[in-house]
Amino acid sequence: MPVEEALARLLALAEASPILEQEFVKLADADGRVLAGALTSTLDLPPWPNSAMDGYALRLADWTGEPLVVSQRIFAGQAPEPLQPGTCARIFTGAPLPAGADCVEMQENAEVMSDQRVRFCETMRVGQNIRPQGQETRIGEQVLAAGTRLGPIELGLAASLGCGQLAVVRRPRIAVLSTGDELVEPGLTLGPGQIYNSNRRVLCSWLLRLGCEVVDAGILPDDLPRTRQRLGEFKDVDLILSTGGVSVGEADFLGIALREEGELALWKLAIKPGKPLTFGHYRGVPVIGLPGNPASTLVTFALLTRPYLLRRLGVAAVAPMQIAVPAGFSWTKPGNRREYLRGRIEQGRAVIYPNQSSGVLRSAAWAEGLVEVLEGRTLAEGESVNFIPFSELLG
Ligand code: AMP
Ligand code: MG
Repeated sequence: MPVEEALARLLALAEASPILEQEFVKLADADGRVLAGALTSTLDLPPWPNSAMDGYALRLADWTGEPLVVSQRIFAGQAPEPLQPGTCARIFTGAPLPAGADCVEMQENAEVMSDQRVRFCETMRVGQNIRPQGQETRIGEQVLAAGTRLGPIELGLAASLGCGQLAVVRRPRIAVLSTGDELVEPGLTLGPGQIYNSNRRVLCSWLLRLGCEVVDAGILPDDLPRTRQRLGEFKDVDLILSTGGVSVGEADFLGIALREEGELALWKLAIKPGKPLTFGHYRGVPVIGLPGNPASTLVTFALLTRPYLLRRLGVAAVAPMQIAVPAGFSWTKPGNRREYLRGRIEQGRAVIYPNQSSGVLRSAAWAEGLVEVLEGRTLAEGESVNFIPFSELLG
């Protein structure tokens, strides 16, 4: 199954089971959350015309070329008097423009005379250095759409409109399961044939960054009764996310359990690393089973699970930004799967980690993103490839 098709299917499944419950949270707690309804401005922004410069406010028609008397001083935060005809007002950046003024001249172009009148040295025009009322936003205008992911910029915008709290989609609850008899948690001693569980750490940390509530379900042994029992424990989660045991190998207990008590689709993805992916339901709870090799887990989470989760929260823009860069390597053997090589940009060219084995997580630690090589494609150095920065995927 081509990557696009798997993604389209997952997004359709996500849209069929959206998470709709909302909660109100303070702005300080809203970072990383998804806006539940459109944010509409209850203010004009700025609420009144104000000065963009430190200088002098005047009515241009009052200026004959002669110096003007300064009739008031207006600082930010003050409410000015109307401008006395035939005078100017000293004004500072962000201060409201006095009624009657239609022009601000910056102080660098003005000269204070010995009698304290001000001479203007340059020609001026109506409206200059004035930030008009509502230039950023008008009352009633939608400034953020429902489904917007909130970060520092969106929260700053909400703050500028005076919102103390926002309605956000509740956090999805995700159960993370690591399957494999060989797995041991870091901090413990390895026995013969055992390896440390790294996927759990990757997924739990990543999910937290995506605003999820993680139900850390630990290690699941390769054993059918235990698999059945453990799956049945997660009744109030939005997704069970497991790694390992989804290859067509003998230890596919997740698949067996899903077939018995729910439904299962096993997709052979045309993606490398990461061929097998399970999607199913266990007693109504969606289940995604990712391949266990650490680089496969990473790539299938980044490109398929992350957009699925975001779409369940109502996020429209789930595709990571890709940039086209010249390849700093050549690719001579065309593959029948789309490859996502762990690479980074050096001197404007995409270079790849020498060991691209799906078991090697270190490749991704060295890398700064994924270099996409399409099915059937060969590359000469300098030809264009797509690069997806990890920064686009990790949050
Ligand atoms: P599997 O998908 O269960 O066949 O596993 C494929 C490979 O990934 C095997 O070498 C596993 O030992 C390894 N693997 C599976 N799960 C994990 C995990 N949670 N952490 C690190 N390696 C794993
Ligand atoms: Mg396994």
